[in-house]
Amino acid sequence: MPSTPRLAGRHAIVTGASTGIGRAVAERFAAEGATVAINYLRSVSEAEETLAQVRRASEAGGFKEVDHRIAQADISNEAEAQELIAELELAWGRIDILVNNAGIQIAADSEDHPVADVRRVLDVNLIGALVCSQAAIRHFLTRPGGGVIVNCSSAHEIIPKPGYIGYSLSKGGLGNLTRTLALEFADRGIRVNAVAPGAILTPINDAWRHDPATRASVEGHIPMGRAGTPEEIAAVFAFLASDEASYITGQTLYACGGLTLYGEFKQNWSS
Ligand code: NAD
Repeated sequence: MPSTPRLAGRHAIVTGASTGIGRAVAERFAAEGATVAINYLRSVSEAEETLAQVRRASEAGGFKEVDHRIAQADISNEAEAQELIAELELAWGRIDILVNNAGIQIAADSEDHPVADVRRVLDVNLIGALVCSQAAIRHFLTRPGGGVIVNCSSAHEIIPKPGYIGYSLSKGGLGNLTRTLALEFADRGIRVNAVAPGAILTPINDAWRHDPATRASVEGHIPMGRAGTPEEIAAVFAFLASDEASYITGQTLYACGGLTLYGEFKQNWSS
């Protein structure tokens, strides 16, 4: 944690923040002085737990009586996503940072993958991020100072993910969403970047994170030899959201323990 809080006075919305990476991002932002809105889909108790952790993080950082909020919305529903941003704009008077974190994945062999399921994944991971970004950008453009968007991509932005075609499409698309919006608004004070985690210990990985044998098998594929923590990913979000990244836009920063390094090439086999 840097000794000077980098997000003091900033108002940030984190989608899908009641669990996992989103929760860690909300906490980290609060520790660095931000006022945070925790968007959640269903579980108000998980959102309230995140809110309690966020409040503790603020207080530990010396920030008192911060107007943190929880905000229910299904960001795959266009009207709800727009309403989420509009309500926070009204409540706070300003929004400085949007983190598009909400995401899902659905497994199926690609030849049989129901198109409705592919659409569902795209509606949450990609179109939801677009609609939230559009609403945030319209707000950023109403005032001087611009704003920041940080998307939660994945190592699967560039590494194929067989058996998860919707997820692959969505994260590949998120890379281009990041670059396209970044270019379109680069000269108007709006920065758009993405963080691409590898295998992180969150509920999306319940299939392996609690079982030592399966977890060891997953970690055997990671050049650094271990899965990452949500806190390690939150630190990257905080950097990209802060003024320390003031000259960075349109980039995906891979925080994946080396997954994108073609681990199979560690021992030379090709010459
Ligand atoms: P997670 O399942 O804990 O978090 C996903 C969150 O998104 C949940 O809180 C869920 O309720 C929320 N969400 C889902 N649909 C939503 C909707 N329609 N509206 C609002 N919220 C919705 O898992 P996580 O690992 O913390 O995932 C967060 C992000 O990180 C996702 O975008 C995921 O693709 C990405 N990611 C995770 C990993 C990993 O290994 N954990 C790796 C790469 C990328």
